[in-house]
Amino acid sequence: MSKTDFKTLTLTKEMLHNLNEIGYKEMTPIQAQSLPFILEGRDVIAQAKTGSGKTAAFGIGLLHKLQVKKFRVQTLILCPTRELADQVAKELRTLARFAHNIKILTLCGGSAFGPQLGSLRHGAHIVVGTPGRILKHLKKETLSLKDMDTLVLDEADRMLDMGFSEEINEVLGFTPKEKQTLLFSATYTDEIMDISAKIQKDAINIKTTSIEVANKITERFYEVQNSQKIDTLINIFSNFKPENVIVFANTKVEVDKIAQTLQKRKIDALAIHGDLEQYERNDVLVQFANGSCRVLVATDVAARGLDIKELSMVVNYDMPHGEETYTHRIGRTARAGKEGLAFTLYEAYETDKAYEYKNETRLFEDASKLKEIDGFEMKPAYITLVIEGGKKDKVRAGDILGALTGDAGLEGSAIGKIEIYEKQSYVAILNSKIDKAHSKLKDGKIKAKRFSVWIL
Ligand code: ADP
Ligand code: MG
Repeated sequence: MSKTDFKTLTLTKEMLHNLNEIGYKEMTPIQAQSLPFILEGRDVIAQAKTGSGKTAAFGIGLLHKLQVKKFRVQTLILCPTRELADQVAKELRTLARFAHNIKILTLCGGSAFGPQLGSLRHGAHIVVGTPGRILKHLKKETLSLKDMDTLVLDEADRMLDMGFSEEINEVLGFTPKEKQTLLFSATYTDEIMDISAKIQKDAINIKTTSIEVANKITERFYEVQNSQKIDTLINIFSNFKPENVIVFANTKVEVDKIAQTLQKRKIDALAIHGDLEQYERNDVLVQFANGSCRVLVATDVAARGLDIKELSMVVNYDMPHGEETYTHRIGRTARAGKEGLAFTLYEAYETDKAYEYKNETRLFEDASKLKEIDGFEMKPAYITLVIEGGKKDKVRAGDILGALTGDAGLEGSAIGKIEIYEKQSYVAILNSKIDKAHSKLKDGKIKAKRFSVWIL
């Protein structure tokens, strides 16, 4: 029997039969690695990319231990959006076909509260929902987790991105101490590891993506004339097509000049340096981090503390002052196991300095080999909406999400990162949906209050 055969697991005949019926012939890697531990009742933190079969990994585990005769909520699954919760519920229903009468209920924001009360009165074994709405039911005592023994955080990184960490913490306060906690995430960040350390016990750590391989950064050096620098920069963008990029320059003046020139050339760029006010700096960083700006032009100091999960490219527009700065700058790319690209431009008079960087892997190439591509543009995928309300107004990510997705509003997939600050909140909205989102928030209410809303 192969190691990926479901029969290697201690599953019931009925479950195995159903898996076969629905066409699951063998386990996917994430299932093969995590299910033995999940079935043992261990806490598991698992990373795998989208489409790798995470739902069945936790789904088979939780259905296996479910006591069908005990009609109480035994499992809670938290998801970032209604669409994802619906998908999980659908997959669970398919997996649950081996038994009769397993009740799975979804509770998400953006849907009317009243009908949910009715469904809750009828009871459920498994609840799938978004953190904000689940919390609301817990506070109103319309949902009890007294008999719950399994908690799943699905797409935990996305939930954190959407600003749900506070709600998740509060939901945890309503759960029994003794429970199995399964945490799934496409990326491993410090935040994810923190959450795991806080809420999991002795968790088994499973990674199935190439993250274990050392980050791969391809480093290229180009000698250019000063007057050719901007064109070379744009050629680098058009030839290598980065999703997002930080361009380092050594002076504030240079940083501003580069950003302005790029904007004129239809490349979406923002500048950040020490002369900006704190709020301006924050606006820029929020936009870069949530995908509303693709090119950030920065001085070393300004880029300090910047934590961008997936940066595809770093360009040293000016030579860094020494190997240490160089390593620090380019180390920001190739996060999360992705290949990173690092470019360094130097002028003829800097050749000696540049050659000190030579080693077996760094490529010194001729910039004229880059193709000139006409009509190249870089537009951001998202646009940021600012809401003049934040923590002090008790605004939460769930409230904003509810206001955007409720009553034939936007789909959850149109909404990116949500960040809540003291007095303001920032929401990333897919480019094509910005008008709809803007008018929905402008004309609607959040927490029964009207807030000013504008596009950043
Ligand atoms: P993820 O949550 O990791 O993004 P899903 O759990 O949504 O991925 O699974 C992706 C798809 O793979 C779904 O259509 C699911 O039905 C299917 N799938 C999951 N496990 C198996 C398996 N063992 N064999 C065949 N298909 C599977
Ligand atoms: Mg999933």
